[in-house]
Amino acid sequence: MSSLVPGAEKIDHIGIAVKDLDVAEKTYTQLLGVAPYKRETVTSQQVITSFFKVGESKIELLFPTAPESTIAKFLQTKGEGMHHTAFLVKNIEASLAQLKAQGFRLIHETPILGADQKRIAFVHPKDTAGVLIELCEQL
Ligand code: ZN
Repeated sequence: MSSLVPGAEKIDHIGIAVKDLDVAEKTYTQLLGVAPYKRETVTSQQVITSFFKVGESKIELLFPTAPESTIAKFLQTKGEGMHHTAFLVKNIEASLAQLKAQGFRLIHETPILGADQKRIAFVHPKDTAGVLIELCEQL
């Protein structure tokens, strides 16, 4: 049996779309008992990200930097909430090729530069029970 995400090592992070980054950082600092360890602007995705460590995984808050950002559109249509789940893989090209061969629709056929020193690519949520899946590989 083939796995959903070939080569997945762990859940790297959960991405959460937020309307107010300062408010959301305060909320998650209280919730998790730790402060965010960094903020990072990701130009390619038109977002500011804020990262919290939770054991081996992370929470990634996503705040749009432009009205045409996919996060801005997500907030308009769905409001705040979980945006994606990210799996860490060893070889993102190999994982993408295998998923494509299995019939999964890929939002990115080739990886793009993401936050947190990663190359990333998204798999269409229509093929994954409504959840936007991110694959990420450490640079
Ligand atoms: Zn992410």
